[in-house]
Amino acid sequence: MTGEGSVQKLVIVGGGTAGWITAAAFARLLGGRLDIELVESETIGTVGVGEATIPQIIRLNAILGIDENEFLKATSGTFKLGIEFVDWGQKGSRYLHTFGDTGMNLGNVAFHHYWRRSMGAGGNPKGLWNYSLHQRAADEARFGKLDRVGNTAMTGLAYAYHFDASRYALFLRAYAEGRGVTRTEGIVERVERDGESGDITAIVLKGGERVAGDFFIDCTGFRSLLLGGELGVGYQDWSKWLPCDRALAVPSERLETLVPYTRATAKDAGWQWRIPLQHRTGNGHVYSSGFTTDAAAADTLLDGLDTKALGDPRPIRFTTGRREAFWAHNCAAIGLSSGFLEPLESTSIHLIQSHVSRLIQLFPRSANAAAMRAEYNRRCAAEFAQIRDFLILHYHRTDREDTEFWRYCKHMSVPDSLTHKLELFAASGRVGRDTDDLFRDASWVQVMLGQGIMPADYDPMADQIDDAQLTGFLESLRAIIERSVAGLPRHEDYLARHCPAE
Ligand code: FAD
Repeated sequence: MTGEGSVQKLVIVGGGTAGWITAAAFARLLGGRLDIELVESETIGTVGVGEATIPQIIRLNAILGIDENEFLKATSGTFKLGIEFVDWGQKGSRYLHTFGDTGMNLGNVAFHHYWRRSMGAGGNPKGLWNYSLHQRAADEARFGKLDRVGNTAMTGLAYAYHFDASRYALFLRAYAEGRGVTRTEGIVERVERDGESGDITAIVLKGGERVAGDFFIDCTGFRSLLLGGELGVGYQDWSKWLPCDRALAVPSERLETLVPYTRATAKDAGWQWRIPLQHRTGNGHVYSSGFTTDAAAADTLLDGLDTKALGDPRPIRFTTGRREAFWAHNCAAIGLSSGFLEPLESTSIHLIQSHVSRLIQLFPRSANAAAMRAEYNRRCAAEFAQIRDFLILHYHRTDREDTEFWRYCKHMSVPDSLTHKLELFAASGRVGRDTDDLFRDASWVQVMLGQGIMPADYDPMADQIDDAQLTGFLESLRAIIERSVAGLPRHEDYLARHCPAE
């Protein structure tokens, strides 16, 4: 440790999305205090996927001071209002998990309780999404900035982005290097540690160059070179709940209509993503090797493309789960090196962002970091478990039994924390969500309804208005939403006007 025990030199190992987000955020928030060096290897390369995000990325961009239009131009990005799930609850079903609320709450009562009440009077079960501004804008491939819907209390469109992963890493690299981060090219061959404390003191590159530091951030992807490899922190395997363990990714030509959402289509032994970018489409098939072969998975992927493939499918292997600890000694892992939850809800880049911001909030001044380390590990573990449960919901709450994979998912036992949420919602339409859960009530409601759970009852407070008032409320909401959507520009036109790809 240099400087009499104080942390002065930060070494980030790995220059994928995780490495460069980490470098950018530290440079911005602690750049004046820390000397930051990032080591990466072009020979090893990056995982090269990770193109869909959730709205929290807007906060990251705001912290970094990144202009949205410049960002989307540089990364060939598009806007995202949610994820369309096709064939999940049953074959032929489809719903959008949007980033916004559905309808409008009245007082303390969530909208879906009023809608559920209207169902008892012969309402249409599919009709819920008619009250979603996001769904209706997505249906019409429209996007625009709206603060409010009409004169109501309904907020406008909440959104995230799709972008080209390789362009994103380059964009962040330019940002971080512009703020003083030093980049070193090389392959890490060896790690040096203090004989007494066991802390990492330096990494040694092929060719002998030695990079010393006080604190190390492992962003080496699935290799987890420092935390998993050198420090031997174990891995909790969650494949029994999330059995997909492989992916094939392939780009294809751009979509004729640039829709503002990701599509996730359930397949016989997994699912397929479609991410619309301005210059091409990102596609991939996530599947379980226990239930299909690589050759069959490649056929499924290529058969499911909407536009012509621009290359051959690229294989990626993973094990869903997380490291037993996210920070050990003087090393924290961020990104794939810390664990992996499949991209069904586009949460990995968010996890990078939340881990970086948590690490910065708890960053130690000196080697004496046990209390901060314990808190960091506690909060990261809780976040991983909450997202895990949300992902399992999509597989487990299904009526599909048409393949061995879906029979397994439907009948597997799931964590008690999820069973409780499912039972509560099925009985009463209420959501048993923890207050710090990444996914809001609206997300849980949309996915549980979308997967086919119809609550047996609704909140009695929704009885406070009479039938005529209920009908009037629902009709006026629909009309306001339709008017607002009609006033939005087409997504394509919005992009062309504000942020055409460079
Ligand atoms: P990598 O990109 O693998 O980077 C690792 C870095 O470490 C590289 O720079 C490499 O050169 C370096 N390195 C490794 N070993 C050494 C060494 N010995 N010496 C020097 N350098 C070394 N996330 C989302 O948010 N949305 C998505 O839609 C999404 N889709 C995904 C789809 C799939 C199939 C997968 C597998 C992941 C997806 N993710 C998604 C996750 C996302 O891709 C990653 O979270 C993100 O790319 C971060 O990766 P990383 O930087 O941790 O690892």
